[in-house]
Amino acid sequence: MSDQSSLPPTVTDEENIFERNLPRRAANHAVLTPLSFLRRSAAVYPDKIAVIHGEQHFSYADFYRRCRALASALTAAGVGPGETVSVLAPNVPPLLEAHYGVPMAGAVLNAINSRLDAATIGFILGHAQAKVLIVDSAWLDVVREVMEGNDFGARVVVYHDPGAEADGGTPAGNAKMPGSATDYEDFLASGDPDQPWQPPADEWLAISLNYTSGTTGNPKGVVYSHRGACLNALGNVMTFGLDARTVYLWTLPMFHCNGWTYTWAVTAVGGTHVCLRKVEREQVFAKIREHGVTHMCGAPIILNMLARGEGDDAPLEHTVEVATGGAAPPTTVIRALERLGFRVTHLYGLTETYGPATVCVWQPSWDDLDPEQRGIHMARQGVNHVTADEAIVADPETQVPVPRDGATMGEILLRGNTVMKGYLKNPAATDEALHGGWFRTGDLAVWHEDGYIEIKDRSKDIIISGGENISSLEVEEVLYAHPAVLEAAVVARPDDKWGETPCAFVALRAGAKASDEEIIDWCRERMARFKAPRAVVFGELPKTSTGKIQKHVLREEAKKLA
Ligand code: ADP
Repeated sequence: MSDQSSLPPTVTDEENIFERNLPRRAANHAVLTPLSFLRRSAAVYPDKIAVIHGEQHFSYADFYRRCRALASALTAAGVGPGETVSVLAPNVPPLLEAHYGVPMAGAVLNAINSRLDAATIGFILGHAQAKVLIVDSAWLDVVREVMEGNDFGARVVVYHDPGAEADGGTPAGNAKMPGSATDYEDFLASGDPDQPWQPPADEWLAISLNYTSGTTGNPKGVVYSHRGACLNALGNVMTFGLDARTVYLWTLPMFHCNGWTYTWAVTAVGGTHVCLRKVEREQVFAKIREHGVTHMCGAPIILNMLARGEGDDAPLEHTVEVATGGAAPPTTVIRALERLGFRVTHLYGLTETYGPATVCVWQPSWDDLDPEQRGIHMARQGVNHVTADEAIVADPETQVPVPRDGATMGEILLRGNTVMKGYLKNPAATDEALHGGWFRTGDLAVWHEDGYIEIKDRSKDIIISGGENISSLEVEEVLYAHPAVLEAAVVARPDDKWGETPCAFVALRAGAKASDEEIIDWCRERMARFKAPRAVVFGELPKTSTGKIQKHVLREEAKKLA
């Protein structure tokens, strides 16, 4: 390889003595990729435990070998550069291994939200053109349903989790594999664990693909680069204070923005990943005590779950750092968690920004504030992550920053290396999202004098329930398909447990009848359960003079019902 091939152009200013004859070379310029974290940690800490799953313990040497075996097996199965490998699984070792093995083979990892229904999973597998699907055996029924609708031709590899029962999950042993499927461990055994691998030729190449339900019915495929993944992971290391003593419990789904890139961050420092099939309160506390967990992440629903039954638990013997995002954590929950021994960090971001883009950086001067004031400060979304270039609040039309007065509303705009490459096969949506040199978040906020951002509202039509996005449009489409429904609109209703739940406003056809239960059941049968409305309000819908449904009026109505 020539020492300058495929490197970005350098400044060639002959007048500048520092640039003359000093171009980038292979010796001083390597692509940024999180894959090199594993190579280093395996060299530095070969015997240290990298991954714990139930009774299974994998050292860093084992972890690296398993990932290389996966890469080798994928290559042998014909998976080439720029092709997709999808995974449908809870937080078990194969999903973590896929974060390394898949891109080591030059391919792109697509971790699918395991709570989705068969129709949406089928859409994703087709859109991503998946060549291989690695599936946990507890999801085989869903996969069968998908295949009945459309045999998209991916090779199926099935993981039978030896720890399923012990970890509180579904017993997996008796689930039958589809005819041509391979067992995951056999698949790994067919690969070479010493297989050499190359970093990508260019750090801008794709490493992963994460689907997000934006404002339209069909999910959009957000593409991450090696460079962005590497930088966001390192940003996490600094923001959340990870080091080689870190024991990280997987309470955040790895399919959410690649676990907000903690899948790579924890490996970067040689920390220990503790897998968890199912997030249950007792299990979480048991794992914290058993393994000395130091760090974990989760949507506020996870924090709520930990805070519940607070009185029954003795406080933890050591402080556990917990980072949350997806919604602002309520003050009462933060206080309950602090009493239990957790320290809460508040993050904000989107799938489009590799998860965390801003953090509510704690200021020492806040230490002396009364609990209520501390809560008010902590509820802010904060300032840009150290590796995210800029986060501003600006007029959505002109993109001119709003004054830092804590009162003027604007849209949060982000730019930098940790903004997605774009949406897969969707140039129009990519251009719209990245127009004007900024990524438009659709989140409405004020900017405080101290530079901290605080979210006030959302301009996009999504509902965020228990950390999962629900497109109102998708629910409305299902409602409109009901024979008795004339018009329908779905908005968020505030909810103590879930943050928000979908609330449907429905106008029935003249003479038609339907009960709220009937409407809710109709939705449940046609979409993932968490997306179905929890409440239905019948009556005429408020409209503008041009006939547009006034969702802001309905949002206010829904608040009153909360
Ligand atoms: P994630 O998978 O990280 O939840 P999504 O793309 O699904 O990312 O959701 C992103 C949206 O969630 C944001 O646009 C915003 O509306 C909301 N959100 C994320 N973090 C926060 C937060 N800390 N406070 C308020 N809203 C948040």
